[in-house]
Amino acid sequence: QAAEIKNLVHSMIEEAREMLDSNKRFSQQLDTTSREIGLLRAEMQDLRLQASLDSLTGLGNRKTFDESLSRALDTAPDDMSSVCLMMVDIDNFKRINDEYGHLIGDKILRFVADILKRSVKGRDTVSRFGGDEFGVVLEETPPSGAYRLAESIRQTVAKSALKRTDTGEPIGSITVSIGVDCNQDGDDVEDLLHRADKALYESKQKGRNRVTCTMKRPTFS
Ligand code: GH3
Ligand code: MG
Repeated sequence: QAAEIKNLVHSMIEEAREMLDSNKRFSQQLDTTSREIGLLRAEMQDLRLQASLDSLTGLGNRKTFDESLSRALDTAPDDMSSVCLMMVDIDNFKRINDEYGHLIGDKILRFVADILKRSVKGRDTVSRFGGDEFGVVLEETPPSGAYRLAESIRQTVAKSALKRTDTGEPIGSITVSIGVDCNQDGDDVEDLLHRADKALYESKQKGRNRVTCTMKRPTFS
């Protein structure tokens, strides 16, 4: 009987050891799986970020622009003009491309993008709307503030003396035209975009290198 008990104890110890081993293997597998999930999650985040950016300038792309304008209008407090939209377009960019080539054209797009990026802060978003046109969404900003910012961007671009990096040859001055408008009661994305675009068109019509703000009651203080 003593031998039977001994055998029983042996087999119980053996079973417990096997259980421990299998638990260990299981927890190692769990570790590997959760590491893999972490990597996949980081990869997904990276892909999502890439899908929201414009590859040439590193700014938000058109999709990001649409989303940020729509989000800004949805979350805007009730007081008027807390969301302003600035549409910025490089003047005579086709001529610049023709004269200096597309590679320099691309550098100029990045140059203007950098000025825009450096000019905004906080929740404001800058995106490449398409081609040589950029959209800046300013939240909690009065029309006067948006106008001042647009004017400062216009001047910064106009006064920069650009040179070709290869030959040092100066590149004729680059200017931008800007249209600014701010939200009014009941505005949707299309309304605000339409008015800012009209303001931009007016800047072009009036001779370019200027800011137009078509707000009904702009207070340029
Ligand atoms: P305006 O003052 O009326 O805006 O004149 P514009 O010549 O700038 O106007 P338009 O919109 O007709 O030309 C935009 C040009 O931008 C045309 C296109 O070849 C150029 N473009 C668009 N995307 C890119 C790009 O990614 N790189 C370069 N180098 N050029 C681009
Ligand atoms: Mg243009």
